[in-house]
Amino acid sequence: MLSVIIPSYNEQEILPQTAEVLSRLLTEEHIPYELIFVDDGSKDLTWDEIIRAHAKDENVHGVHFSRNFGKEAAIFAGLSQALGDCAAVMDCDLQHPPGTLVEMYRKWEEGYEVVEGVKRTRGKETGSHRAAAGIFYRIMSKAVRIDMTRASDFKLLDRRAVDSLLEMPERNAFFRAMSSWIGYRRAQVEFDVQERTAGESKWTTAQLVSYAVSNIVGYSTAPMQIVTGAGVAVFLLAVVLGIQTLVRYFTGHAVEGFTTVILLILLIGSIIMVSLGIIGYYIARIYEEVKGRPKYIISGKI
Ligand code: UDP
Ligand code: MG
Repeated sequence: MLSVIIPSYNEQEILPQTAEVLSRLLTEEHIPYELIFVDDGSKDLTWDEIIRAHAKDENVHGVHFSRNFGKEAAIFAGLSQALGDCAAVMDCDLQHPPGTLVEMYRKWEEGYEVVEGVKRTRGKETGSHRAAAGIFYRIMSKAVRIDMTRASDFKLLDRRAVDSLLEMPERNAFFRAMSSWIGYRRAQVEFDVQERTAGESKWTTAQLVSYAVSNIVGYSTAPMQIVTGAGVAVFLLAVVLGIQTLVRYFTGHAVEGFTTVILLILLIGSIIMVSLGIIGYYIARIYEEVKGRPKYIISGKI
């Protein structure tokens, strides 16, 4: 059986259509399925729509969060509820073409354990959004050492891959990076990002930036290495300047004026503060992980 996990946040307009399109397609293709809609604490009638969809098709299941925990949490909640031999994750807004889902399933039947949807084109995005996403993926690709510039959350995983993911205890999960980290036999399927036909994108550029920072800190220690690098660079500068200052002192032309002192204090002060900030990010992360709170709270199921 194929479990399709669909994180949904304020998707009342499109959810009935998504459920119907997927049910019809998977029935036509003779693929046994279950649809798991994860209502990520929506403020609209998404949950009612899930209940209605369940009444129409008993293969539709729903999980309700006690509040908005974010898409990552919704994905992991869906994976933990999935009973299928393989599980796919796709968006509720039909931006991930359902036809590709069938293609992924066929790949899985061929024996691939992780089938990734790769964006051929990115669809409509604003300029700032595109630029921010570009920088983010370049850094992330370095951090996880896998090309992620065209990656998406649209993936199909074998039961074994799902179980490996669920075994990972970290609270701050990042599905895209973790599903490449686990390895297994992989295949890729290209797809074109469709346009959203109803509702609107849930992300603002500011949210994307903070999501990016938190994931970079979560998956890479590169920022801390940059601090070390900056420290070494400043030290080399200090040696050169120190020698020059001493030479001048002994030859009777001591460096004069406060300007030099002020400039040095400003430079070093700001480097130290930025470095503390970076370390602070990691400490905050450690604190969050140590608290060991659950990723999400499920308040209802159908
Ligand atoms: N989503 C979610 N929780 C959130 C934000 C988004 O579950 O806090 C879901 C949303 O319902 C959709 C998917 O994540 O199914 C992708 O969201 P969206 O279409 O807004 O993102 P975009 O396609 O613009 O990247
Ligand atoms: Mg979308």
